[in-house]
Amino acid sequence: MDSRAPTRRCTVAGLVLFTTVSACGGGRTAPPVTAAEPGTTASAVRGLEIPVSEAFERAVAAGTRTRTGAPGPKYWQQWTDYRLEAELNPISKRLTGQGTLAYHNRSPNTLQEVYVHLLHNLFAPGARHNTDVPWSVEGVELSRVAAQGQQLKASEKDEGPGYKVDGTIMQIRLPKPLPPGESAKLDIAWKLRVPPDGAPRGGQDGEAFYINYWYPQMAVYDDVNGWQTDQYLGNAEFYMGYGNYDVALTLPAGWLVTSTGKLVNPGEVLSSQTLARLDTASHARGIVRVVTEADRNAGTSTTAGTNGKLTWRFRADSVRDVSWATSSRYLWDATNAAVGDANGDGRPDTTAINAFYRPEQRASHWDQSARYSRHSVEFFSRHLLPYPYPHMTAVDGPTSCGGMEYPMMTCIGGKWDTLGLYEVTTHEIGHMWFPMLVGSDEKRHAWMDEGLTQFNQSQAMADFFKGFDDEERNRRNYLNLSEGGGEVELMRHGDRYPTYGSYGVASYYKPAAVLVALRGVLGENTFNKAFTEYARRWLYKHPQPTDLFRTFEDVSGQDLSWFWRTWFYETWRLDQAIDTVAPSGDSLDVVIENRGKAPMPVRLAVSRTDGQVDSLTLPASVWFGGERRRTLRIAREPAIKNIEIDPDRDFPDMDRSNQAWPR
Ligand SMILES: [Zn+2]
Repeated sequence: MDSRAPTRRCTVAGLVLFTTVSACGGGRTAPPVTAAEPGTTASAVRGLEIPVSEAFERAVAAGTRTRTGAPGPKYWQQWTDYRLEAELNPISKRLTGQGTLAYHNRSPNTLQEVYVHLLHNLFAPGARHNTDVPWSVEGVELSRVAAQGQQLKASEKDEGPGYKVDGTIMQIRLPKPLPPGESAKLDIAWKLRVPPDGAPRGGQDGEAFYINYWYPQMAVYDDVNGWQTDQYLGNAEFYMGYGNYDVALTLPAGWLVTSTGKLVNPGEVLSSQTLARLDTASHARGIVRVVTEADRNAGTSTTAGTNGKLTWRFRADSVRDVSWATSSRYLWDATNAAVGDANGDGRPDTTAINAFYRPEQRASHWDQSARYSRHSVEFFSRHLLPYPYPHMTAVDGPTSCGGMEYPMMTCIGGKWDTLGLYEVTTHEIGHMWFPMLVGSDEKRHAWMDEGLTQFNQSQAMADFFKGFDDEERNRRNYLNLSEGGGEVELMRHGDRYPTYGSYGVASYYKPAAVLVALRGVLGENTFNKAFTEYARRWLYKHPQPTDLFRTFEDVSGQDLSWFWRTWFYETWRLDQAIDTVAPSGDSLDVVIENRGKAPMPVRLAVSRTDGQVDSLTLPASVWFGGERRRTLRIAREPAIKNIEIDPDRDFPDMDRSNQAWPR
């Protein structure tokens, strides 16, 4: 999501960067924990090692992970095929759903039980949460739970077939054990009420419905940590497994529906006028107004339907979630984006770009949304990996969407200027790569999706707004919090930050600034090569932080544990200074002082009056032994105009005033 999207006080997406999480009503916040995991192993320089968990070491021994950051030869991952049906009544806001989940056990272990997320139980009476949620909603009402063809009963017992709901997690004890290589079918029927505006990341405002976390979703069972069954408390995001989805959504005719996945029955639900305009949009370079104010009727934008209803069918392959949106008031703009060779057939591919918004949102520049999305998808396809999905759709939703990412979809709420709407759009579209295509555990490692995305957002903004320095904004946000002393380390569960400010900095701004510093350390080519290699290796998979660290080391050929330790596991600050500059014969002695705790290379630019600029570098290793000062001897002639540390401003230094000489 977007850390600065406008929304209500205290909701997670909000302008609440420096409000404490515990100030949000009704929440229960887990106490902070330390970063170190038990059973760590040492490498690299003493005091600059990074901990690797015992669980990860076991995965390496088992061949599912490696010491180079690539998936191991025995890497495995679970898979689910979903068939979901839902009907929404926009008057009562009630959704009635039923689904069949075919869960394929590709692990080497026999499973006696499986876990399913009921994320909507965030709204159940008495639910635990650490963000504001609208009260007087309700949780998921289960009307049927069956597994392996046997109807199950709710039971608090831990033995025998049955199910048990604890907050947002349902444990299903299977009638028969599920051996490796076999599948289990779950049949579930449920009802829920779509929450009002104010619900994190979606909901309905009476006109626009953004339907998220609306179906029973398999929890991740992975090769490192087994079942990940952390509660959804509102702040920390998600860890979702991959699967294919067939979805059928029934709505009143005349209501436009857009969803993750490809619409597979366009001829049944869209009018011939809408179909013709979409066909134009699929190869147009401009924006096509597919549905305008005048078209918003059953029989004009959509077909007339049966008994006033239409069923929209979508198919989504290799995604980690499905969400959808609907309104009778939406306009629909469409175009397409060039993504490069996404399917590997050697020919360039395109993807559909859509924007759904209400007419009054033209004041927030939504008539530019499709253009912004097209630029973002094309930019990231060039710089990361080609966008492989059939569409990318931006939806004007309830204010409390803020900016929130879903596969192929983003819900954006609130009012925006052009800079803000581009920024939130490109940020959410950046999330299509992290965590939609590279499926990290956002709950335990928020920086792996938000930090990488914040960095990518800055690259897209610099391209779209020609030279706009979003990197400096990230750095400033990090340094401001660090100066104030409120910082905690990045390696921390997303529900265990003492304040929303410390969560925002550790998840978004600091990792984005740290990636800029890493680019400075490695050089742009090596950095980009390692970054895309990480994405390529973990495409549709579940990387751990260690996999990212080791991929950068593998590609660059460098031991970077000092870098990871400094910036991910500690809150050490960087403050490099030119202490003194003094003549020594026909030389000058430049004394560099490392005033902070962070060991980083020193990049020195010496500019002379004849226009020459000498670049000198001290490696980070000069500080590893705890040394604080280093003298660099440089020639006095030609005369020196000035000396500066880190002239490219790659590093997040606390105090730039002591980096230049003369002062
Ligand atoms: Zn985000």
